[in-house]
Amino acid sequence: MRILGLGFKRAAKDKKKSERESLPSETGPFVQDTDARRSLLSKGLARTRQTLSNTLKGLFGGMRRVSEEELGRLQEALILADVGIGTVDKIMVGVKEGLGRLGRSDGEAVKQAVRGAMLQILSSACQKQVPGVLAVKQRPYVCLVVGINGTGKTTTIAKLAWRYKRMGLSSVLVAADTFRAAAIEQLGEWAKRAGADLIKHKEGASPAAVVYDGIKAASSRGVDLVIVDTAGRLHTRKNLMAELAKVKRVAAANAQGAPHETLLVLDATCGQNAVSQARQFNEWLQGITGLVLAKIDGTAKGGVVITIADELGIPIQYLGTGERLEDLVDFDPAGFVDALLG
Ligand code: GDP
Repeated sequence: MRILGLGFKRAAKDKKKSERESLPSETGPFVQDTDARRSLLSKGLARTRQTLSNTLKGLFGGMRRVSEEELGRLQEALILADVGIGTVDKIMVGVKEGLGRLGRSDGEAVKQAVRGAMLQILSSACQKQVPGVLAVKQRPYVCLVVGINGTGKTTTIAKLAWRYKRMGLSSVLVAADTFRAAAIEQLGEWAKRAGADLIKHKEGASPAAVVYDGIKAASSRGVDLVIVDTAGRLHTRKNLMAELAKVKRVAAANAQGAPHETLLVLDATCGQNAVSQARQFNEWLQGITGLVLAKIDGTAKGGVVITIADELGIPIQYLGTGERLEDLVDFDPAGFVDALLG
């Protein structure tokens, strides 16, 4: 959590303004309609799309036959957009198969084949989505949020609480990153902005104890969700695992079926490092149910999303497309590929 990060300072400065703009009104359920999603995605992927189109130099347009050499440019563009080599190979195989099926190799056919190859990878990773808070009857619904500091965990938690509020669901945010007072404070700020309750203890307290209090408070207040901010210090693997295991045990013992979700937040601007972080977390923690790729708007390397899906096979649930509460997009493979290819 970078409390002094530029983004946060700016957010604090604009707080009054964004409170007016972003606090949910009492009106109706939250609906991120197709247009809203498309526009957030399009904005979020603008830099990556630009990188792709600069390298592709119009390869996708038109009915002219695309040569083998030009297909090599496609490979290069994907690598520049930070799609990993193994995934690029898979896409290229998929493209060749797609072109074979279409029986054409003009620019339009290539685009269609690339779209199909990317969709196949993303869709197969996204098959095992958890049912989600609306489908699960138990209350409170408990969502653990994990990831290393600075990836966008706290901001994502606030965005989630805000969207749930718009869906008519209340949240308690639990400050289980008790290692730094600043982390607790920052979550408190976001809780206010998102219109959620906060349960916190003092710095240094046991994370599991805060989670216990959070679940008890949610149960007694009839709150729908408990969203837990956990500590993310990658260098202390043993402690991190032990702590999270304890948090999970406490959640399971106090809310039926909990944790219902465990979201891993990754920083898309880290490119291939995000892939190794994801791999590491997945190895260490059992039961990550979904991924959030934050800061997709801050990178020209959004292709990393495809690699992560390919390598981990864990559903990508959301993309963070900015610093505002509304800058969180439900991930859908087709929408993503369309926004990427333009
Ligand atoms: P944490 O340490 O993992 O809790 O990370 P924070 O939530 O504090 O976020 C770190 C920085 O990233 C802050 O400056 C946030 O404003 C910024 N941030 C978080 N999500 C996004 C996003 O989707 N897009 C952009 N551009 N910035 C983001």
